[in-house]
Amino acid sequence: MSDISCGSGVELLMDYLEGVLTPETNAALEAHVAGCERCTAFVASYRETPRIMRTATAVELPADIQDALQAFLRRLRS
Ligand SMILES: [Zn+2]
Repeated sequence: MSDISCGSGVELLMDYLEGVLTPETNAALEAHVAGCERCTAFVASYRETPRIMRTATAVELPADIQDALQAFLRRLRS
């Protein structure tokens, strides 16, 4: 995967910043960001955004993940 463009890059960048990309995709993306002002600026601004802002704008979790998360949190409290 070596043809990363800014169009597909934004979604990939989110995954990149969350650290969930495969090593190959991660490397290809880093190579693109290194030579791309727009993506460099995106990464920089994302990293400056407080986590609470990201949480507020995050897409809703799938129901099964929410259930698992709530069960986990209940176990923590009990
Ligand atoms: Zn780019």
